[in-house]
Amino acid sequence: MKKYLIAGNWKMNFTSNEAISFVNQLILHLSELNLEQIDVLLCVPFTNLHPIKSFVNSNLVKIGAQNMHFEEKGAFTGEISPLMLLDAGCEYVILGHSERRQYFLENNDILSKKIISALSHNLVPIFCIGETLSQRQANLTFQVLESQLNVLETVPKEFLSNIILAYEPVWAIGTGLNASKEQIIEAHLWINDHVIDRFHVQLPILYGGSMNNDNAKDILECKMVSGGLIGGASLKILQFIDIINTAISLSQQG
Ligand code: PEP
Repeated sequence: MKKYLIAGNWKMNFTSNEAISFVNQLILHLSELNLEQIDVLLCVPFTNLHPIKSFVNSNLVKIGAQNMHFEEKGAFTGEISPLMLLDAGCEYVILGHSERRQYFLENNDILSKKIISALSHNLVPIFCIGETLSQRQANLTFQVLESQLNVLETVPKEFLSNIILAYEPVWAIGTGLNASKEQIIEAHLWINDHVIDRFHVQLPILYGGSMNNDNAKDILECKMVSGGLIGGASLKILQFIDIINTAISLSQQG
């Protein structure tokens, strides 16, 4: 049976009251479901971590962050460390999201430090990779994915199996343009085979890019798709619940 991870990426949305109200509604719904074959994760803004920390103990929803600094503490104004994330109840951290690569110039060097730091603090990194539209149009998709995956060369071998990958074609993020089933299957199979050949490990691969309650079934049933990283639709409680329900029914079908 396939075990799905349904992960919301709230990005820079929700005040703490809004976050608490959302999580309350989500927990109410999740408490009535069989969650054996599915993990539900919310990657929230730093300021929402402590307000929703008490829900972490419910075992129904896991909590993650959207970024972190690689150092434990020090003179890094405005940054948040892995120790602070652990203190706030985080189990996961998104690293290498295309918005961080684009607006904050995160590159392989910095992502390597962040991934190694997350892993050595027992935080599960959700490492995002994906091509831009112009890279896809220039037939560079797999070259780009390969160079982004170079980061894994730097990770100590004993840690590798704790990483989750997220394939997020940049042109599909927040645009309403999700990749076709064929494109998703092609990319996920390529990533899976490449990682096995090169690093001798099989990693879960989430899909991210305009996933919603209408397309979730088509996406989640694709080969090698282990779940979804969901931006916009994770802010709408009914849509998010619908996606979770879809994942549960697919996992029950085997
Ligand atoms: C994301 O932010 O990772 C994402 C996939 O966003 P959206 O679902 O809005 O495209």
